[in-house]
Amino acid sequence: MLLAADVTKRYGPTTAVDNLNLHVDRGEVLCLLGANGAGKTTTVRLFLGFTSPDEGEVSVDGIDPAEDPVAARAAIAYIPENVMLYEELTGLENLELFDRMSGGRRSEAEYVDILAAQGLPAGAERKRVGGYSKGMRQKVGLGIAAARQAKALLLDEPMSGLDPSAANEFAQAIVAERDRGAAILLTTHDIFRAKAMATRIGIMHSGVLAELLDVRDVDANEIERIYLSHMQAGGGASDR
Ligand code: ATP
Repeated sequence: MLLAADVTKRYGPTTAVDNLNLHVDRGEVLCLLGANGAGKTTTVRLFLGFTSPDEGEVSVDGIDPAEDPVAARAAIAYIPENVMLYEELTGLENLELFDRMSGGRRSEAEYVDILAAQGLPAGAERKRVGGYSKGMRQKVGLGIAAARQAKALLLDEPMSGLDPSAANEFAQAIVAERDRGAAILLTTHDIFRAKAMATRIGIMHSGVLAELLDVRDVDANEIERIYLSHMQAGGGASDR
């Protein structure tokens, strides 16, 4: 579903992504870990067609997002660190609006059920988003992805700033999306949650995907040990 083949992206002297090869199939969650500047956000942006590779190929459901970003994005739900919602509308109205904009037509009861399935407390869906916590906003974002039945989810540090309980609920919702058959690429600094929801964990360092681990083979302590061993070489993207 998501494929990067020999992808390199440079910004001036900085190699943000260096010869990246990865794929995420339906029913998989690939969590990318890495220090600030490791190239995680650039990887997500390449799949969204926000930027294009200097070398190599990126595809989403067989579509090159640099060539046809509209078609590629039709297959994708994107959840950034802060989901952009209409503050004056309720969570329910936001979900209905975004779903209808992408061609969805569901009953109000269905939209309410979708938000409840993301863990939004009962009744909150009829309150203005302006009063929502960050965790509640992220749940509406996941609800939009679930309503669209998006084939692929791209999430860039979606759990940063969530309290442990909200992060746990968010991880459960990701697992539900995975089980529905979505292909999920998620960047995070949270090794513990990555272990809980990922099928594979990638460790990026200086633009390079330095490690790709199957979560069944490692516990959280082992992931941290491997992560730190890569970081000891120093952080940031390479200047070459
Ligand atoms: P963070 O955890 O801080 O979000 P990241 O792993 O997502 O980091 P990227 O944002 O992909 O890392 O950045 C990788 C490198 O590319 C960094 O050195 C960054 O400064 C550089 N970079 C990213 N986008 C641009 C841009 N638009 N112009 C110039 N340099 C950029």
